[in-house]
Amino acid sequence: MKPHFVYFALFLIVLLGCSKSNTFSKETTVGVVPYKGMSAQKIDELTKAITSYYGVTVKILRQKTLPKSAFINIKSPRYRADSIIAIQERNMPEGVDYILGLTTKDVSVTKHDGNGNIKHPEWRYNDFGIMGLAYCPGKSCIVSDFRLKTNDKDLHLARFKKVVIHELGHNFGLPHCPNKKCVMTDAVESIKTIDNADPGVCNACRKKLRL
Ligand SMILES: [Zn+2]
Ligand SMILES: [Zn+2]
Repeated sequence: MKPHFVYFALFLIVLLGCSKSNTFSKETTVGVVPYKGMSAQKIDELTKAITSYYGVTVKILRQKTLPKSAFINIKSPRYRADSIIAIQERNMPEGVDYILGLTTKDVSVTKHDGNGNIKHPEWRYNDFGIMGLAYCPGKSCIVSDFRLKTNDKDLHLARFKKVVIHELGHNFGLPHCPNKKCVMTDAVESIKTIDNADPGVCNACRKKLRL
């Protein structure tokens, strides 16, 4: 039996260093893939947040089921986030510059150290539950609301929006921000970091994106 806290471990991740920005403008279109179970109301609220913070066009794509090939059951039933974003990117519809998947299911990755080995302790990091995953820069990201659970609906939505804005920020080329109030701050495995951050990116990050 694994310790209970592992199951609820929270983490936001960026896989690669953000050395250069993707081309980003107001004509940029973010395609949203709602995976089965995601409510229309949440999709609508998240769309509004994306347009208001980044000024991009959002296109809601057809609902899909999560790819079976991404399913894993080491500690609990989860879907591998890195597989999902790779599959999304391979299936980018025309007219879409970035693709964001939204799911209610738990998603995970294997966390590595600087040498490419599984981070220690291995039992903790071989299948590590996360809230979202994006390459930086990248074209595809996935956000799950599974680990944002709270009985407070407003808080849940506020957290969900922040993780979406954070992961898209990585795709747009933003690295983690030293400003703790910025939504691009490193969540360092804690939901509190997210709660303490503002809903949008700071002025320094806005400048980097030329917003
Ligand atoms: Zn991050
Ligand atoms: Zn910032």
